[in-house]
Amino acid sequence: MSVLDQKIKSMDVWHVQLPVKTRRDHGIGTVADNIDVVIVRLTAESGVCGYGEGSPWVVFTGTAEANFAALDRYLRPLIVGRSICELQQIMLDAERAVVHCGEARAALETALLDLKGRLLGVPVYELLGGAVRTTIPLSVSLANPDFDADIALVDQLREDNIRLVKFKTGIRDHQFDLMRIERLRKDYPEFDIRVDYNQGLAPTDALRKLRDIECFDVTFIEQPVPAQDYRVMQNLAAAIDTPLLADETVFSAADMTRAVEDRLCNCVSVKIMKCGGLSRGQTIAAIAQSAGMAAYGGDMFETGIAHLAGTHMIAATPNISLGCEFYQASYYLVEDLLQAPYPIVDGQVVVPDSPGLGMEVDIERLERLSINYAG
Ligand SMILES: [Mg+2]
Repeated sequence: MSVLDQKIKSMDVWHVQLPVKTRRDHGIGTVADNIDVVIVRLTAESGVCGYGEGSPWVVFTGTAEANFAALDRYLRPLIVGRSICELQQIMLDAERAVVHCGEARAALETALLDLKGRLLGVPVYELLGGAVRTTIPLSVSLANPDFDADIALVDQLREDNIRLVKFKTGIRDHQFDLMRIERLRKDYPEFDIRVDYNQGLAPTDALRKLRDIECFDVTFIEQPVPAQDYRVMQNLAAAIDTPLLADETVFSAADMTRAVEDRLCNCVSVKIMKCGGLSRGQTIAAIAQSAGMAAYGGDMFETGIAHLAGTHMIAATPNISLGCEFYQASYYLVEDLLQAPYPIVDGQVVVPDSPGLGMEVDIERLERLSINYAG
């Protein structure tokens, strides 16, 4: 009998609120005080556990409350009592059982893969095709409304040998954005700069503003206009020389197919929270690769658990080659849910090579920061 024949004995779900260090302004919304995530733990008959995280953002993908209910109420009956070897079928059943709530399915697939990897004694990336890289360049986003505080952060990033930064733009006025990028170009020339509008520009004057941004030789410009303004994305991609990266425009494999067919972008942000899991993220990356597009490892407001899921996916996906933005656990949360620091060395995420996700969850913090619905 294979270790994978054993059943999933129990499932635990937590809604966790984690304090953050500063307010952050992104095109479509603000984060302050706390982030909300949902954590799931699956326990096999042998007592081995696997963890997963769903990290919604209310203005982008959805709510923690909806994802908690998706897991706790609607997906639980599909999971408890099933064998680990049914992973793929469980995910197909989960897709049919609950619409939306992709973060809940991302949490579920992560926990199943973590559990399967631990039972087999292999890292999650081995279950996704095997690693093509052992490190991933880390990007940190600059979104503090207090620019002096962001400059202090950039000083720290320089000390830490991080060389990728992404400006969150389109929140205040255009001159504020140009001033910030110009300052960084001038005083921190060693940094690779990216720009993300989070849909913040009006379609009518987006092109004029992007042409100003192009003067600073940025690596890519991400999602300048609302997700469904497909014709505007198409026109911008054709008009500017800088690669246009789609984020909110591409949630699913079908969205990626449209982006390729209609030339809506030159590259794409793959996030397991948008598409509902690691294998679906790999599918989106594969469609992009078929059109010669590179992909970027995006994320939501996450803890180290979701960062690890993304890390293993990127390790096993050749064309997610533009780095990742898994900085929250180290630079944004007051405390993370992993026992040891999420692994960043010299500006690179180091892909863990021990079984499952490769790191342990801090149960005390998880319990202390969770919301008790029972009151
Ligand atoms: Mg984005």
